[in-house]
Amino acid sequence: MKVAVFPGSFDPLTLGHLDLIKRGSALFDQLAVAVMTNESKNPLFTIEERVAQIKEAVSGLDNVSVITTEGLTVDLMNRIGADYLMRGLRNTTDFQYERDIAAMNNFLDDQCETVFFLAKPEYQHLSSSLLKEVTSAGGDISAYLPANINEALKKRLMEREMLRVKKDNEKAR
Ligand code: ADP
Repeated sequence: MKVAVFPGSFDPLTLGHLDLIKRGSALFDQLAVAVMTNESKNPLFTIEERVAQIKEAVSGLDNVSVITTEGLTVDLMNRIGADYLMRGLRNTTDFQYERDIAAMNNFLDDQCETVFFLAKPEYQHLSSSLLKEVTSAGGDISAYLPANINEALKKRLMEREMLRVKKDNEKAR
């Protein structure tokens, strides 16, 4: 049985990520999407929110599960019996970064095989951070997000903006 893990921040999940999940779900028997707790990235959504959003977005894919993880990915893989680590490549910057991570994971556990999926051309320019930036400036990027996540993103950015205005008003008083 071929079990793979697709770890990432997914803050939030984009259609680029979802495309990879669909392709991974067709290639592997089981695929676990692992939402990483990476506090240094100052996430917009909590880990629980991201898990719920992704579960809804992958609900049609029977062999895909959504879990959380912290610490080493190779430890998670050993816990759930996965041999394959899935990652996406959009450009040469991703390649250089991912090549080092793959080599390190292979050093930590020589059973760990990283499998790279090339991003589809229509999603190559997509990153969660770019989508957050464009949404907060008022741009409509609904074409790049699952519907539930597009709504959640607009709502969260509006809440943040209201909080910012409130704080500014308090300071001005
Ligand atoms: P991380 O913090 O681990 O980089 P991300 O959520 O940014 O988390 O990305 C998770 C994985 O998905 C990475 O391998 C990244 O290269 C890949 N990825 C991100 N955006 C896209 C996209 N538009 N198309 C294909 N793969 C992508």
